[in-house]
Amino acid sequence: MSFLFRFASRFVAGEQVEQAMTAVQKLNSQGLTASLDILGENVHDKVTAGRAVEGYLNLLQQIHRAEIDSNISVKLTMTGLDIGDDLCFENMCRICESARSLNNYVRIDMEGSAYTERTLKVFFRLHAKYPGVVGAVIQAYLHRSSDDIDALNAVGARVRLCKGAYKEPPSAAIQKMRDIRTNYKRLAEKLFLKGVYPGIATHDDQLIHWTRDFVAAHGIRNDQFEFQMLYGIRPGTQKALVRGGHRMRVYVPFGTHWAPYFYRRLRERKENVWFIVSNMFKG
Ligand SMILES: Cc1cc2nc3c(=O)[nH]c(=O)nc-3n(C[C@H](O)[C@H](O)[C@H](O)COP(=O)(O)OP(=O)(O)OC[C@H]3O[C@@H](n4cnc5c(N)ncnc54)[C@H](O)[C@@H]3O)c2cc1C
Repeated sequence: MSFLFRFASRFVAGEQVEQAMTAVQKLNSQGLTASLDILGENVHDKVTAGRAVEGYLNLLQQIHRAEIDSNISVKLTMTGLDIGDDLCFENMCRICESARSLNNYVRIDMEGSAYTERTLKVFFRLHAKYPGVVGAVIQAYLHRSSDDIDALNAVGARVRLCKGAYKEPPSAAIQKMRDIRTNYKRLAEKLFLKGVYPGIATHDDQLIHWTRDFVAAHGIRNDQFEFQMLYGIRPGTQKALVRGGHRMRVYVPFGTHWAPYFYRRLRERKENVWFIVSNMFKG
C-alpha cells in the first residue's frame, strides 16, 4: 500500500489533516480557494459515521483557526446514508450547524447512481434548514440530471456540475464522452441562466473554452461562478485561469482511506495506470 500511496499522493494531499492544511495554504497563496474532503465512504455503523462527523467538526475548526480559504466536501455514505436517511440527516445537521456558525460552507459530493435519489432527498432537507450553507453536486452523465437541476434551481440551491466519476449502466447514464459533453453544456446553460453561483468542475479544455465563451456572450461576470478542479490535476491550467481573472476552487482530498478515490482517478485516464505499471518494473 505504501508503494501505491507514492502514486496516490499526486491526487491526495496527505494522510494527515496538517498536510492538507499546508496544501491549502499553498493554493491560497497562489490565489486559489479550496474544498477539503476527508476521504472515506460506505460506512456501515453508527460509531464510524459519528467519527466522520467529529473529523469534519474538527476540520471546520482548524480551517477557521488557520484562516485559510476553504470550504468542505462531504460524502453522505461517510456520515451514515447506508445506515439510514434520518441518521445521515442528523449527522449532517451537526456539520452544517458548525459550518453556519463559522461562516463556512458544505458541499455534498454525489456518489454512484444507487445513491442519487436519497442524496438529493437529504440535500433538500438540509438546504431547507441551512440555505446558503449547503450545496449539491450534479453529474452530467446521468439521464435524470436535467430534471434534478430544474428542482435545484427552483429552490435557489448552489450546484457543482461535473461529468460523473462512477461506472454506470446505459439505463442510468450517457456512455459516450461526446454526448456527456453536449449534456454538460446543456446543464451548465441552465445553471448559468437560472441557477445560483455554479461550480464548473472539469479539467476538459473544450468545456472550459465553451464556458468562457458562454459567460462572455451572456454578460456573466467572473465573480458569478467558479471553476473547480481536483488536487494534482492540471495545476498549470488552474493557475492560468486565475491569472486570467477567473475564480478557481481546488478539491483537496486527504486521509487514510484514499484507495477508492485513487482508483476512480486511475480509471479516468489509462495513462495513469500505465505509469504505475511501468514504474513497478523499474526496481
Ligand atoms: C472539483 C471536482 C469535484 C468533483 N466531484 C465529483 C462528485 O461529487 N461526484 C462525481 O461523480 N464526480 C466528481 N468529480 C469528478 C468528475 O465527475 C470527473 O470524473 C472528472 O473531473 C474527470 O472529468 P473531466 O470533466 O475533468 O474531463 P476528462 O475529459 O476526464 O479530462 C480532461 C483532461 O483532464 C485531465 N485529467 C482528467 N482526469 C484525470 C486524471 N484522473 N488523471 C490525470 N489527468 C486527468 C487530462 O488532461 C484530461 O485530458 C469532480 C471533479 C471535480 C473537478
